[in-house]
Amino acid sequence: MSAHLRQAWATRIAGGTLPSGLYFTRKSGTVRVDGITAWDREVPDPRGFPEGHLVGELTWTKDTGEIAWVAVYDDEYKRRGIATWMFARAKEIEPRLHHSTELSESGKAWSRTVATRRFEPGQVATWARTRPWDAPRADLESGVYPGIRVGQARGTEVASFEGGMVVLKDEWFGYPPGSRRAVLYHEAGHGLETAVGQGVARYFGVENPLDVIDLPGAQRFGHDYGEVVAEGYAVLWTEPSWAGSFDGGRAVLEAVRAMARDHGYPLP
Ligand SMILES: [Zn+2]
Repeated sequence: MSAHLRQAWATRIAGGTLPSGLYFTRKSGTVRVDGITAWDREVPDPRGFPEGHLVGELTWTKDTGEIAWVAVYDDEYKRRGIATWMFARAKEIEPRLHHSTELSESGKAWSRTVATRRFEPGQVATWARTRPWDAPRADLESGVYPGIRVGQARGTEVASFEGGMVVLKDEWFGYPPGSRRAVLYHEAGHGLETAVGQGVARYFGVENPLDVIDLPGAQRFGHDYGEVVAEGYAVLWTEPSWAGSFDGGRAVLEAVRAMARDHGYPLP
């Protein structure tokens, strides 16, 4: 690998985001094993693969859906969320996909890496496809979904946003899927609210964040400005038409939409 090519990679995949040329193909498979291969179509492969650079592979056993092998091959592509991305793609093909309880050492290391990865706003954009609200509890506990963990959430809510992670309590798992989904977007909205801080006031056109709650319609979203922003973000993703049914609702959504745009929080 030339230094020049290495530099080109480093530039292209810097910033913690997935490479823009990332895609996958199905492996031809065997009688027992099926799988996918991840490629980067924007980086030529030194081995001459016409698909582009070989990034990684994930295979599973056909009869149980248990992961047989997972690997991301080059350091430049590690810790970029590619293993998680492959897991989500494979899960669309094989819904029973799961980790073995007898993880290999590299598999354990992968689980740990994924489990400790902090919440990043860009992850929200993947949820529509990866649907963490439908995931088995074991997947959420093992950190398949970066930024989400299971534990003792703070306060009375069924989930919280703390320590840079969305934390789900036991009660969350007893909610219907639509509610689990709304709660996840709500907690992502707390990430947004935390990122904006005192700047929230400006987006609502008031002097002080504490004045937000007195704006028309604001109390339909929550009891303080943090809750208004969090719920506004959830409503944008789950039921934006609801905010059109009362005075001020749309204005709240527009303020939250603007702050999301400015702070890298995905919008539907
Ligand atoms: Zn909240």
